Amino acid sequence: MCDNHEHLRRDDLGRRNFLKVTGAATTALGPAGTGFFTGPARADALTKAQRDKMTPSQIIEIMKKGNERFRMGVRKNRNYLNEQRASATGQYPAAVLLNCIDSRAPAEVIMDLGIGDIFNCRVAGNVENQDILGSMEFACKLAGAKVVLVMGHTACGAVKGAIDNAELGNLTGLLAKIKPAVQATTYKGERSAKNYAFVDAVARKNVEITVADIRKDSPVLAELEAKGMIKITGAMYNLETGVVKFFG
Ligand SMILES: [Zn+2]
Repeated sequence: MCDNHEHLRRDDLGRRNFLKVTGAATTALGPAGTGFFTGPARADALTKAQRDKMTPSQIIEIMKKGNERFRMGVRKNRNYLNEQRASATGQYPAAVLLNCIDSRAPAEVIMDLGIGDIFNCRVAGNVENQDILGSMEFACKLAGAKVVLVMGHTACGAVKGAIDNAELGNLTGLLAKIKPAVQATTYKGERSAKNYAFVDAVARKNVEITVADIRKDSPVLAELEAKGMIKITGAMYNLETGVVKFFG
């Protein structure tokens, strides 16, 4: 009898905790139906009018909220077929991302985005080169995207490889592009690939350098940013917590 009573109390507690979490989610995410990427009212792809009236900061805010939904397990129940059909004759993505190829860091999934919402460049270690810059210039100058986001992540294998001076075919040249971040990282402690805190510090520095390189190497993007038409920024994704931390 005592056991049953104990069970009831525990169930009640569980239910109250659930309600508390749900309440917190509603407060954090706003009422259902708001937000261009998120609301149930939007069953198809992002339209030009919707994208064009958003500011770069609003777009970043939407990506942050998408990551909150991902972490809380309340991702939108999307109709991908509707998104595919609605975007088949035109695309109006709000942002262009540069991410690592890591299988655990898919931007669309971890920020709850749909078909047609973002351009997504992926290369190990999220480093830039002329082809990536050309893709970003197309995305922003010609296709109207308003945010350039470089997203690194924790425990990055490419960063570890750069720290360890790994060599393999074409990978050697790719890792050479990450090595300036290894040198530039100030860190007190063990500077090795076995030290995850150091690896993550280098990954963050690598994002900062890549953001600076994009501004330096692409006058097209730098000019758009100077005019306030786009925002170029970075973020780090934590594989363990699921949090995407934006730099600005
Ligand atoms: Zn990686």
